[in-house]
Amino acid sequence: MGYIDLHLHTTASDGVKTPSEMVRYAKAKGLQAISITDHDTIEGLEEGLAEGERLGFEVIPGIEISAEHSPGSMHLLGYFIDIHHPTLNEKLKYLQRAREERNPKMVEKLNRLGVKITYEEVVKASGGGQVGRPHFAQVLIEKGYVRNFQEAFDRYLKKGASAYVDKLRLTPAEAIHLISEARGVPVLGHPNTLGLNGAKGLESLIGDLLKDGLKGIEVYYPEHSSTEVAQYKTLAERNGLIMTGGTDYHGIEKESLDVGVGRGDMKIPYSMVEALKAARN
Ligand SMILES: [Zn+2]
Ligand SMILES: [Zn+2]
Repeated sequence: MGYIDLHLHTTASDGVKTPSEMVRYAKAKGLQAISITDHDTIEGLEEGLAEGERLGFEVIPGIEISAEHSPGSMHLLGYFIDIHHPTLNEKLKYLQRAREERNPKMVEKLNRLGVKITYEEVVKASGGGQVGRPHFAQVLIEKGYVRNFQEAFDRYLKKGASAYVDKLRLTPAEAIHLISEARGVPVLGHPNTLGLNGAKGLESLIGDLLKDGLKGIEVYYPEHSSTEVAQYKTLAERNGLIMTGGTDYHGIEKESLDVGVGRGDMKIPYSMVEALKAARN
């Protein structure tokens, strides 16, 4: 049996390969299956699945949902989701609208504070890419409202500051339920970004997520140290969770990271796909 990659981003979110390009690339690399897991969107899946079908290559419909969590970030992966599921489609559209409204809202707040910047200026600072708070900071510096990035964030942009607008995120429970409702298998992505200290915190978090319906944990990931991999493996075994793995390839990585192999040392077995399929039934 061959190898797979269960964590890939395309142009539907912040990757550089189109879904079809990704499928052709993975096939040429000799992989047996992939999952496309774009951030909070399923827009690339129809194309990716069609290209897989055309080439006789297995493409698993996936998604990566950002959930509310602190101090770090929590990403929940969903595999084998039904991309036509009405609730999934509605919820994702709603989240997208909220994202589009966030930046103009921050401009409004700044204007009310007497800071005269326009949304167009912020968009221009982004150079045409996704608009984020660093671009707000850039405009604030250019216009002399603050001296540097630190001051821009402290006074206006950081969480809790005067012009901050919260990102709308699903709670972990909502994200897991949404994936399950769309007949997908919910998996906790790269636990090392959760910002938890030691195994105890993660163990108790997983206890909570299990009650919500979590089915797996992403054990193999380029940024996981061998100690972390061992820790997550133990956690998976102890809690009856499926182990998954993927490279999180976007095509923009500075270091040489590639589909299927990560930095050269990843080998994710096809048996994980079978475990996910079994969990789905
Ligand atoms: Zn992620
Ligand atoms: Zn990712």
